[in-house]
Amino acid sequence: METFVWNQYFTTGLPDVDAQHHALVDAFNDLSEALQRSNAGDEAGLAEVYERMVNFAEFHFAEEELLMHNQGVDPRHVQAHTAMHRQFIEQVVGIWRSRAALKDPAQSFVGFLTSWLGLHILGIDQSMARQLACLELGMTAPEAYEQEMEVHDQGTQAMIQMVGRLYQVLSQQNTELAQANLHLEERVQLRTQELAQANAELQQANARLEEFSRTDGLMQIANRVCFDDRLAQACASAFRHERPLGVLMIDVDHFKRYNDTYGHPAGDACLQAVARAVQQALPRATDLVARYGGEELAVILPDTDIQGTGTVARRVVEAVAALGLPHSTSGAAPHVTVSVGAVARVPDNKEACDRLLAEADAALYRAKEAGRNGWRMSGA
Ligand code: GH3
Ligand code: MG
Ligand code: MG
Repeated sequence: METFVWNQYFTTGLPDVDAQHHALVDAFNDLSEALQRSNAGDEAGLAEVYERMVNFAEFHFAEEELLMHNQGVDPRHVQAHTAMHRQFIEQVVGIWRSRAALKDPAQSFVGFLTSWLGLHILGIDQSMARQLACLELGMTAPEAYEQEMEVHDQGTQAMIQMVGRLYQVLSQQNTELAQANLHLEERVQLRTQELAQANAELQQANARLEEFSRTDGLMQIANRVCFDDRLAQACASAFRHERPLGVLMIDVDHFKRYNDTYGHPAGDACLQAVARAVQQALPRATDLVARYGGEELAVILPDTDIQGTGTVARRVVEAVAALGLPHSTSGAAPHVTVSVGAVARVPDNKEACDRLLAEADAALYRAKEAGRNGWRMSGA
């Protein structure tokens, strides 16, 4: 696709300058083509074509500036001409940077390049060529410059200047708009990240809150709400898979006397130690110990039969006794002990948890009656 079509009005009559203008047009057209294709996503290839175009433009500008200097063109012209070159490079770099924010980068970019080059060659380059021709004919540089200022074709000149100014304002605005868009996108991206972060923190806070609402503050184990939930789940699952479910009810022996003897704060510390010991006596990660109420704990042992449940009950009794916490008024032993009621069964319906608890409780009562510091299995 040719975007810049050369015609005779662009010829300055300066062979080197004309050849370079041709090459610059080729570079523009290459970039234009690469941009059209860039939707396919060859960023590296595109950047290379862009670099080549900018490098060539810089080379050509330097050549033109050198020519004007060597031929002694009036400094007023040289200054204005050089400023235009600088401005072009700045604008190209600006548009290139913000091209991601342009609606149609290929169109905007190539539109900018071709209209700039057209105007530049028709306007100031032609003026330079005319001044060089006058110098060759023996005119002084200021004479050539001033003649240029009052050119014969005033109309065309004025129009070129006006279009030039209009174009400058537009390209400036375009660049600013594109940059503003780019910043907007960055801000949206930043805000999206902040939101995602806040969301993650909120979820963490919720999870902590949930955890908090299901934990007993004193014993730092599951509370009754959590226990009831987990028992219902475990019961339904055991019923569905026809697997045995074990439950333990644990009660501290003569704990009222313990409080009376050692004081309530010591009673609290004792309960914490008992909870830790019970926790450590459970063999599997899926087992759950909870504070059932007061000085009573309850344990869920998923997928555990009578024999396994009995083993855990015995370990719990032994683990608490092994703490060796003095309890001088107990009567059951000189140290703190617990009694445990156990049950293990394949539930006969998925809401069998109440019955399991009642049976564990009845077994606990029998353990107490049998002298405490021991365990009993329901039905045994
Ligand atoms: P038994 O061997 O028959 O279980 O005798 P017990 O004294 O342990 O029985 P009872 O259920 O009559 O007494 C339980 C005591 O546990 C009474 C209550 O003050 C005490 N208790 C319940 N919760 C706490 C607690 O959080 N901290 C303290 N220090 N004591 C508690
Ligand atoms: Mg009790
Ligand atoms: Mg008790």
